[in-house]
Amino acid sequence: MKLFACDLDNTLIPQQEEVGRDNINELNRLLKLIPNLKIAYISGRNFTLTLKVLSEHHLLKPDFIAPDVGNSIYVLKQGEWSKDTKYQNYLAATGFDQEKIKRQLKNIKNIYPQEKEVQSEFKLSYYLDLGGEYKDVLSDIKQVLKKSSAQLIYSEDELKNIGLLDIVPKKGGKAGALKFLAEKIGAEKDKVVYAGDSGNDLNALNAGFKGILVGNASKDLRDLFSQESSRVYVAKNRFSGGIIEGIRYLFSF
Ligand SMILES: [Mg+2]
Repeated sequence: MKLFACDLDNTLIPQQEEVGRDNINELNRLLKLIPNLKIAYISGRNFTLTLKVLSEHHLLKPDFIAPDVGNSIYVLKQGEWSKDTKYQNYLAATGFDQEKIKRQLKNIKNIYPQEKEVQSEFKLSYYLDLGGEYKDVLSDIKQVLKKSSAQLIYSEDELKNIGLLDIVPKKGGKAGALKFLAEKIGAEKDKVVYAGDSGNDLNALNAGFKGILVGNASKDLRDLFSQESSRVYVAKNRFSGGIIEGIRYLFSF
């Protein structure tokens, strides 16, 4: 079995630009040609917003959706989506305690809870003001979480100039979902490819599988992986064009 897993926003689809459907159609065509391939979208969006973007952008119907930054998994069976309760139980067993984390973060300045609809059972999300001392805030939060079973996943919304904090189980996140899915379908490490663009894809790109970094990813990330081209392919093209490039390289198409 093979697994192609992919972030959505700014990896497969641009958030701010209009792009033609040619690349998406070409990617869909390419993916359909690969035998024994399962497809998963792993996104920071919630489940409902993930479904919306799939239909709006005519993306290939996946076998799995891992929304909430990989902190839940939905499986498509006979046309119906259902939550993978095994993954829920696995995350619950990590001892992730939302209320406790909220209390611990209560006195940290410059962070604000994100909207209710983006919070979920295994994900607490905050905004961070990108003022002068935001790096100190990040290290304070990491310090607070150090002894817990939770981790901080950080990315930035460059257009809104705001930091995005997701606090999730250490064994969860996009990397957790990716490992769980690879095991679930019985895919070996070198038969799993993950494509991403930003900080919240870092753990998944570093999980020991193969990876694609799209051409529009930040320079920091591109530099980080440019030495590792045999495992993580740093694409020249942006968005789905970069994924096509990477798939051809990694799956020898
Ligand atoms: Mg992204």
